[in-house]
Amino acid sequence: MKSLLIINAGSSSLKFAVFNLPLTKDAPSVYRGQIDGIGANTQFVAKDIDGKVLLETTIKSPEGTSLEGQQQLALTSLLDWVESQKIELAAVGHRVLHGGKKYSAPVVITPEVLKDLEAFIPLGPLHQPHNLRPVYILAKKYPNMPQVACFDTAFHRTQPWQSEVYPIPRKITEEGVIRYGFHGSSYDYIARQLEDVLGKQVGNGAVIVAHMGNGASMAGLVEKKCVATSMGFTAAEGLMMGTRTGNIDPGVLLYMVDQHGYSAADLSRFIYKESGLLGVSGLSQDMRTLEASDTKEAKEAVELFCYRAARQIGSLMVATAGLDALVFTGGIGENSQHVRNRIAELLAWTGLKIDGELNKVRGKAHCINTADSKVKVAVIPTNEEWMIAFHTTSLLAL
Ligand code: ADP
Repeated sequence: MKSLLIINAGSSSLKFAVFNLPLTKDAPSVYRGQIDGIGANTQFVAKDIDGKVLLETTIKSPEGTSLEGQQQLALTSLLDWVESQKIELAAVGHRVLHGGKKYSAPVVITPEVLKDLEAFIPLGPLHQPHNLRPVYILAKKYPNMPQVACFDTAFHRTQPWQSEVYPIPRKITEEGVIRYGFHGSSYDYIARQLEDVLGKQVGNGAVIVAHMGNGASMAGLVEKKCVATSMGFTAAEGLMMGTRTGNIDPGVLLYMVDQHGYSAADLSRFIYKESGLLGVSGLSQDMRTLEASDTKEAKEAVELFCYRAARQIGSLMVATAGLDALVFTGGIGENSQHVRNRIAELLAWTGLKIDGELNKVRGKAHCINTADSKVKVAVIPTNEEWMIAFHTTSLLAL
């Protein structure tokens, strides 16, 4: 039996999943796992289809190995483990941050495509080089192995120009400083479930999807295509997140430079690592921890998260010209009854109402609105790895 390897490589972590061929609708991954702490204390965990841990080990690299060297070692450890399990790979699918303006769909990676993807590194310097590193290593080790790139940005290329352009000098826009949007594989997956969960008419209507995990974003869809999204040039714009600010007055950043002597690196930490739920609560970036806490700061962090999410929905409703359905997904969207409930309360003026009992049901795609709600509300678990596997099999006719 042949299999697919799906890779989501970051700077310090590498997540993977293995799917057997032929890939069926919603087939679970037969193996999955993660290599964490690359560059410090590298841990490799692999699990089987039932979540049973098959391997838990530390990857040791010689003293003084560069980050790049350690990333390489992480991938070769994974490939060695794949071989040891007698998994025969037919292809590899990669999550790649940036497809720029050019790629509005997944693509088979050729040397020409790789050149384009390298040219997008300035658009995503924290992710793109790390996403591409496994591509080179795999191409060297298995020169005939087909590889596919699925972009976080691709789904949003249907946005009209008003959703894409910042009010900045045209010259900078032309350089590529536009609102790309991210979490594309998740939205792509959810868009394909909408008709089943919401019915044909509502599924093709004005739907806002809230993907809320550690990173959080929303997309407004009409006829299952993106018309606007909350993330922009980078994944810092839009919603308040685990450790990211989301929308913020750029004047705050200038203030930090003027009054606190912040450098570009300090600002990056402030925007991406120290803010959001963690910054406001002073306790944790983890929604579960905050919901379990009694401190005023934790409660305020959760409330601000919900309030800003509801405000973002109001803004997206202009782009979708209404709201037929609201869909929750991602770790928080799929699991937090409180967050769903509070956002629904803040949107009560739209006629949206959720059912307390249905809101408690977990683990499957289902509607949670009351019978008399004017807006349908659904929870749909996302599956980005399956989506990448699907595109890989489709493009390669596997
Ligand atoms: P990532 O964006 O890293 O993929 P996830 O989608 O896994 O993250 O989401 C992680 C977030 O989901 C964390 O804030 C976590 O606390 C939250 N979460 C997971 N389960 C629950 C739960 N039962 N109740 C509330 N929040 C939850």
